[in-house]
Amino acid sequence: MEANLPDAAWVRSLQRRLLRWFARSARDLPWRKTREPYRIWVSEIMLQQTQVASVTGYYDRFLRAFPDVKSLAAASEQDVLRLWEGLGYYRRARQLHAAARRIVELHGGAFPREFDQVLDLPGVGRYTAGAVLSIAHDARHPILEANTIRLFSRLLGSSLNPASAAGQRLLWALAEHILPRRSVGQFNQALMELGSEVCTPRQPACTRCPLMTLCAACRLGRQEELPVSARPLRYEARHEAAVIARRRGRVLLRQCGPGEWWTGLWDFPRFQLPELAGPELAGELSARMLELTGLRILPGPAVATLRHQVTRYRITLVCHEATVLSGRLIAPACLQWVAPERLSELPLSVTGRRISRLLKL
Ligand code: SF4
Repeated sequence: MEANLPDAAWVRSLQRRLLRWFARSARDLPWRKTREPYRIWVSEIMLQQTQVASVTGYYDRFLRAFPDVKSLAAASEQDVLRLWEGLGYYRRARQLHAAARRIVELHGGAFPREFDQVLDLPGVGRYTAGAVLSIAHDARHPILEANTIRLFSRLLGSSLNPASAAGQRLLWALAEHILPRRSVGQFNQALMELGSEVCTPRQPACTRCPLMTLCAACRLGRQEELPVSARPLRYEARHEAAVIARRRGRVLLRQCGPGEWWTGLWDFPRFQLPELAGPELAGELSARMLELTGLRILPGPAVATLRHQVTRYRITLVCHEATVLSGRLIAPACLQWVAPERLSELPLSVTGRRISRLLKL
């Protein structure tokens, strides 16, 4: 046992109180009605960096379209991305799809039961593998994610940065140390639920926390300052322009390539630009469009301005209608003239969809 970990009486008390609290307080969430590993896996991937309230609708729609591993594996990536559109972090959808294909290929479509086999799937890390196997089969695997990182740091009163190697070692050791012999799935879910609903990032509700008398941070009055945070993110302003080019009633869309923010999704051609105006902007946009698409255009005035954020960038996106003067598409596979009625079938980037709605395409 690690020197800093609590004793057996503390652990027994935590297990008893937490499971009792969860039996009373668990939220009624769609993925809690099943022990099927496929469904739990889908929910875990969707919930990564995404709030429960945003996930529920997507979860139901996704499982109606792809009720099992085989149906997901047989789908096209475009169909998977279309159902994921708006949920963000699209790499998750592509990896989920690739993992379903791997499960069919290696395991005949049955979700694997061995930890290492699950860990081997694209997009699955130690947390996800442990969560799926513990919730589906009560397998004894610990978990550590944003909610439990906060909860554990406070329970221990740990001043280690949880992102550091020493911090990670300590928190994973605690996660393992407190696992009960039975009801592991319930226990792991209860930890995350308590972190999410009671031990919140700001103003944790210690007075209604079942673990209050076990909690070092609460005893020391340090709950607001733990866990210690890494350096805050520095935001950067960025200017971009999108071009709405039309031909015979259709609009030009471009599929985002590998390494871009919305890989696999479609968007209006867009460019990062210095903050320009007038003829300078028109000249720059024309040159960039020619390079990207092979089309000569005459940019018109701005028709809409959107503000949005991706990772650390705060983006101002100005949309310009443009007249196509001449030229041929240089990469027809990833550049397409799309009729407005087909826009609903294609997976669009979040701003691509906003532009299409704003301009009533
Ligand atoms: S007592 Fe407060 S700080 Fe400690 S675990 Fe409970 S909610 Fe979190």
